[in-house]
Amino acid sequence: MSDLSTTLIHHPYTPPEGFAAPQPGVFKASTVLFPSVAAMRSFEWKDKTAYTYGLHGTPTTYMLEERLCTLEGGLQCLLLPSGLAAIANVALSLLRTGDEVLMPDNAYGPSKTLAEGELKGWGITHHFYDPMNPLDLAAKIGPQTRLVWLEAAGSVTLEFPDLCEQVRVCKAHGVLTALDNTWGAGLAFAPFDLVPGASPALGVDISVHALTKYPSGGGDVLMGSVITRDVALHMKLKLTHMRLGFGVGANDVEAVLRSLPSMALRYRAHDKAARELARWCQTRAELVQVLHPALPDSPGHGYWRDLCQPGPGSAAGLFSVIFHPRYSQNQIDAFCDALKLFKVGYSWGGPMSLVVPYALASMRSVWPSHLKQGTLVRFSVGLEALADLRADLTQAMHALLI
Ligand SMILES: *Cc1c(COP(=O)(O)O)cnc(C)c1O
Repeated sequence: MSDLSTTLIHHPYTPPEGFAAPQPGVFKASTVLFPSVAAMRSFEWKDKTAYTYGLHGTPTTYMLEERLCTLEGGLQCLLLPSGLAAIANVALSLLRTGDEVLMPDNAYGPSKTLAEGELKGWGITHHFYDPMNPLDLAAKIGPQTRLVWLEAAGSVTLEFPDLCEQVRVCKAHGVLTALDNTWGAGLAFAPFDLVPGASPALGVDISVHALTKYPSGGGDVLMGSVITRDVALHMKLKLTHMRLGFGVGANDVEAVLRSLPSMALRYRAHDKAARELARWCQTRAELVQVLHPALPDSPGHGYWRDLCQPGPGSAAGLFSVIFHPRYSQNQIDAFCDALKLFKVGYSWGGPMSLVVPYALASMRSVWPSHLKQGTLVRFSVGLEALADLRADLTQAMHALLI
């Protein structure tokens, strides 16, 4: 091998073993090399005993999967290129033509859009249930219902459901439950052990997490996970994952591995600041309602308190407000634009505070009786100083006077 290109590609040097550092090494691969053809034929990727192809796992992805299982209390994990891809993987794996899926009326918007688009097109029907009434959920479960989505707290309006009762209802009907656990993040409550010490455990069958939010913590990574505590269910989800080619890039996994150790501290800080700002918002005459599960008059507060043990770090950094109906959409938009630290943008979980006005009427099948009339604005509280954020909200209120 005298040719320089060949020598550089097949260079014989290997560094000494035994390198240790706080962060794990990062393995990047589409191609994975086998020691022999026999090995190629015998290696099994499904149980993580070997490596066969980048899409099927590397030491880097296995490591993040195991850490996420520890975070959420599950046993098996899949990584996907976004939180929405994780939601789609669950739907495409478990639902067939003629089946029905139920989702809460306050479900994550793009999850609803998936049901109204692809799922409907493939003959899979969906219905929305009242997240605050388990009797409504029970009544809507029919012979074709194969999957029930759960969300605690609900997207944008942050009602906290009676998650334990919802899970009991689904179990009684023999229907699988999938929780969008992005808000709780594995920190506010344990999705597979909703009642500590209960035997058998009371928990969801599947926990989906948009790692894009708190696990990433930077606003710069898209990733999702699907966690289970049942090998057969995991295998079913995993085969769909394999057939659809839902791989993730090692650089992104590395970013999440780097952020994960600080996640609980960050979550706590986001939580503390969001609660203080939400309480401050309750004193403002411009607002008719403030939605945050830790506020005693927020919908489902009692369920949150019972499930999440209300100490620090038991709620995410999100809250929403409803402006008095006397304000026009233009005035609300001017308020959002006048904010200097809260930037206009989707998503959450990063260091920068964000704001989004939502047209709630178009997002719900019915306007829930527990929500006051008016325009809703959601805040995602970042890691800036609390006093600066409060001052920003105060100065932006003047824009309502235009
Ligand atoms: C952001 C989010 C998702 C989707 O995550 P992406 O990575 O943006 O696709 C799903 N569910 C909830 C509740 C979210 O907030």
